[in-house]
Amino acid sequence: MRVGCPTEIKPQEFRVGLTPAAAKELVLAGHEVIVQTGAGTGAGFADQDYTSAGAALLDNAEDIFASADMVVKVKEPQASERKMLRAGQVLFTYLHLAPDPVQTRDLLASGVTAIAYETVTDRAGGLPLLAPMSEVAGRLAPQMGAWTLQKANGGRGVLMGGVPGVGPANVVVIGGGVVGTHAARIAAGMGADVTVLDLSLPRLRYLDDVFGDRFRTGYASAARTAELVAQADMVIGAVLVPGAAAPKLLNRAQLATMKPGAALVDVAIDQGGCFETSRATTHADPIYEVDGIMHYCVANMPGAVARTSTIALGNATMPFMLALANKGWRQACMDDPHLLAGLNTHAGQLTYPAVGEALGLAA
Ligand code: NAD
Repeated sequence: MRVGCPTEIKPQEFRVGLTPAAAKELVLAGHEVIVQTGAGTGAGFADQDYTSAGAALLDNAEDIFASADMVVKVKEPQASERKMLRAGQVLFTYLHLAPDPVQTRDLLASGVTAIAYETVTDRAGGLPLLAPMSEVAGRLAPQMGAWTLQKANGGRGVLMGGVPGVGPANVVVIGGGVVGTHAARIAAGMGADVTVLDLSLPRLRYLDDVFGDRFRTGYASAARTAELVAQADMVIGAVLVPGAAAPKLLNRAQLATMKPGAALVDVAIDQGGCFETSRATTHADPIYEVDGIMHYCVANMPGAVARTSTIALGNATMPFMLALANKGWRQACMDDPHLLAGLNTHAGQLTYPAVGEALGLAA
């Protein structure tokens, strides 16, 4: 099979769909790999890294889309890319079709077989191609929160780990799933005093079993949340209610109960945010202030660490990509129901019911 990887063209996207390591795996399995010149630059991969792996370089995205049997990307295809997709071709990338009727219609019109990273499942009921990005965002959250807390950025001027004779920052993480667990680990590792709140007792038990004394756990009742938020230097919002907008866990009036210059890091902003005063920001202008409280609400946090994110995503996509290339999409999906769960469109048909429900289309 000929596998093609174009340069990402969505603004502020520096990741790449294929690492040199993944290209090499494909070549070793007997496939042809074509990569757009410069595609890996944003993630720190030189063209030569790809050619050394056995890939060929092509200058234009048009040539990649025209000749690839499978196109591998990171972000959903942009309008100009969608025009180049065709029936009989496989597209393997993040799609997020449910809120995007225009993209959905274009994919259906193209006839492409589109497999979405975000709906591929695993045996544990998880989402293995979303998890790496939650891990990245979770580990990045205390780092960005620590930066937000610095005085020059409008923050409280509190150091995460304190120093001998001065106590550490008080960090509250709301939501103890993938993002929250990784955020708590890093915040605790930076020396902060950390509490993780969740509504799931099994999850709190798991965190307590695995992490012991490294951080505290708490039940996320409204009263307990309000009490802890008032004492916090940093609050990290990491909740998810699958298929729904993030619940609002802090309202504007509660900001007045917080310490001036405290930091709110709303990782759940990509689902609408879990603080009433959150609005999505960008890496170029990541923080803003409301009632003396600093907000960090970047919707694509993994983009800040494009190299780590690219490699983490590549590690997760590689086995699926190899299965698709080795067996063809039809056999690969027949052999693996978790990969089949990723199939969103095929030959003009919508094949993912939740997207159909969200958009009022037959699936
Ligand atoms: P997850 O499903 O692993 O964890 C979510 C946790 O929230 C669960 O443990 C759940 O019990 C808990 N929860 C739900 N409602 C709650 C409530 N009212 N109070 C307390 N806890 C509650 O999800 P995840 O992978 O950790 O993702 C968390 C959020 O981070 C999602 O909104 C995801 O889209 C977002 N995210 C954002 C970025 C970014 O760049 N901003 C990157 C990755 C993920």
